[in-house]
Amino acid sequence: MSELKLRYRCNSCNWKFTRNMQPRLCPYCGKAAVDLDKAQGAQELLREIEDAEQSFQARA
Ligand SMILES: [Zn+2]
Repeated sequence: MSELKLRYRCNSCNWKFTRNMQPRLCPYCGKAAVDLDKAQGAQELLREIEDAEQSFQARA
C-alpha cells in the first residue's frame, strides 16, 4: 500500500494538518480534539489523483 495521508483538524485551535494515522492529541495545542477533516480531505485527494494522472499522461 502507498502512503495515504489524511487531513485532520483540531476543534480546539482549528489547526489543520495531515497524518497517516489520526493522532490522539493535537500537535499544535496538545488537546485531544482532533477530528478527521473528511470533506476537504476527499476533495483534495481527488485533485491530487487527477494531477498525478495528468502528469503521468504528460510524461507518457
Ligand atoms: Zn489544537
